[in-house]
Amino acid sequence: MSHVGLPFVHVFGESLELFREVLNATKDAQPFVIAGSGTLGWDMVASNLCEKEDNALVLHTGYVWLFCYLLILPLLIDRYFGDSFAECLEIYGANVTQLKAPIGSRPSLSQIEQALRSKQYKILTITHVDTSTGVLSDIKSIAELTRRVSPSTLVVVDGVCSVGCEEINFSEWDLDIVLTASQKALGVPPGLSLLLASSRAMKVFHNRKGPETSYFASWKKWLPIMQAYESRKPMYFATPPVQLIYALNTSLKQILERPLADRLADHKKGSQMVKDFVEKTLGLKTLPDSRAESANGMTAVWIPEGVKLQELLPKIASQQVVFAGGLHKEIASMLQF
Ligand SMILES: *Cc1c(COP(=O)(O)O)cnc(C)c1O
Repeated sequence: MSHVGLPFVHVFGESLELFREVLNATKDAQPFVIAGSGTLGWDMVASNLCEKEDNALVLHTGYVWLFCYLLILPLLIDRYFGDSFAECLEIYGANVTQLKAPIGSRPSLSQIEQALRSKQYKILTITHVDTSTGVLSDIKSIAELTRRVSPSTLVVVDGVCSVGCEEINFSEWDLDIVLTASQKALGVPPGLSLLLASSRAMKVFHNRKGPETSYFASWKKWLPIMQAYESRKPMYFATPPVQLIYALNTSLKQILERPLADRLADHKKGSQMVKDFVEKTLGLKTLPDSRAESANGMTAVWIPEGVKLQELLPKIASQQVVFAGGLHKEIASMLQF
C-alpha cells in the first residue's frame, strides 16, 4: 500500500485527529505519530524542547537508587521509566534533578512545589502510570500546581501505560506533552511513537536558540508532514509504517465508539474487581500505598513470602493466564511468561 496514496493519506490524517480526541485535546494541540516505540517520545521531548544546560525536573513514582547499580552493572540494567527519561534528557544536555519517592508512592505536591520554587525548570516530567510499580500520578493537580508556581515550565507526561485506560483531559488540565506508544492501552501492535504537544510547547520549540539535536526525531522535519497529512495531502520525510497506522485508525475508532468516560469507568471497575480479589480473597498485597494512587489498567502484586516466582509463573501460565514477572529491579526479576 502506498504511503502517499490517497486512501492512506486519508487514514493517516484522520488518525491524527482521532488521537487528539482520545486525549480530549483542542485543535491547537499538535499530534506527532512516527515510526518507533514509546521511548522515541523521550528523544522527541529532549531533542526538540531542551537545550544545553536547561533544567529538567523528573518526578519518580517509586524508584530508589538505581544509579548505584548503573555504575556496577551497566549491561544488566533494564529500563525504569523515570530513570530512563532522566538519562535520555541528560544525553541531550539537560541538567536533570530527580524527585524520588519510596516504592509504592509518589512525590507529594508540597515536595514538588518546593522543587519548582528552588530553580527555574524548563520542563517537568511525570510518569502517569509507572509500569514497574502500578502507581498512578495525579497529573491534573501537578499541572495545576506547576501553572501556579512556575507558569512557563512545560508539563510533560509519559502516558505510555495510561493513554486509553486513564482519564486525561489534555487541554482542560493544560498539559504540554503527552507521549505514548501503540502497544499498550491503545491496543495496536508495537512500532508507533505517538505524542501530542500544546501550543505552548510548540512555541518553545519554535523559539529555540540553537538547532534541534536529533535528525530522525526533529519536529522541524515532522511538523510539515503531520500538517500535510492532516489536511489530506501526502508529504515525505521518512516512510511511515502504513499498516500500523491503519491498525491505529481502527483502534482509535473502537475506543471512540462510545463515550470515553464509559470506557474509563469500565477499566476502573474491572481493575477494582481484580484488586479486591487479590487483596480480599487471596490475601495478597498490591504495590501502591493506596487505591487512590493505583493504576486502573494494571495491577502490581507482591508475591507472598516464600513463593518463588520462577516456580509460580509456569503454573499460572499452564492455566492459560499470562503474567508479567515484574519490572522493578529492586523488587522483581525480569522473568516473563
Ligand atoms: C512501556 C513503557 C515505556 C517504553 O515504551 P517502549 O514502547 O517499550 O519504548 C515508557 N514509559 C512507560 C511508562 C512504559 O510503560
